[in-house]
Amino acid sequence: MGISLKSPQEIEIMRRACAIQSEILNQVCAKVRPGISTLELDQFAEKLCTDRKVTPGFKGYQGFPATICTSVNNEVVHGIPSTEKVLRDGDIIAIDFGIILEGLYADACRTVAVGDVSGEIEKFLERVRESLYRGIDQAIAGNTTGHIGHAVESYVRQFGYSPVRETVGHGIGRRLHEDPEVPNWGKPGNGTKLQAGMTICIEPIINMGGEQIITEPDGWTTHTSDGKLSGHFEHQILITDNGPEILTTWDRF
Ligand code: MG
Repeated sequence: MGISLKSPQEIEIMRRACAIQSEILNQVCAKVRPGISTLELDQFAEKLCTDRKVTPGFKGYQGFPATICTSVNNEVVHGIPSTEKVLRDGDIIAIDFGIILEGLYADACRTVAVGDVSGEIEKFLERVRESLYRGIDQAIAGNTTGHIGHAVESYVRQFGYSPVRETVGHGIGRRLHEDPEVPNWGKPGNGTKLQAGMTICIEPIINMGGEQIITEPDGWTTHTSDGKLSGHFEHQILITDNGPEILTTWDRF
């Protein structure tokens, strides 16, 4: 794998890829409502990929069977869409989604509420989202991946939440997962030094309770062992000499 610094041409393609990815992700999130199944959301995402002439990035990746990962409530990551998984009022759902455009990947995730959720859950989602931006603020050339992880972890720990240890952020480019790993914990100065031209995905995956997770028999879906909620937000970032540039734009609509 290794770390790849992107050429101006690659960066231009990635900007377009990430803009399309974000538009589709937002349209899929707008479809979320009580009564819809996660498979319907997946089919909608796949249709939008066809319409926009981009390739779903996750389908077939290490055998993953769908276009989006749908992780509901206490599911942590990599939930497989299904007709049997019907969303209910008060649920939360993380929709993780990637595409390929002209050989380059775009990858981002949002967790959204289904109908009306409790104030406690609303706060949880706001805080996990905020931890992403705390991490992004540290994505500066000369800092390390440890700066990012430390910013994420120190923010969420104050609420009693826990970063998941098994799944981390990552470099991205011609492969979905490149070096470096970008954990949601760490110490400033530890890990990999960030350089202009690197593209990374920062993705806090945060449990409301303890960090332990269990993988289900399907081999993909994971859930929290204490049954508490898990939230996940992800942006794809370009490191520049003038600070981080958020390439995925789902928060700008
Ligand atoms: Mg990712």
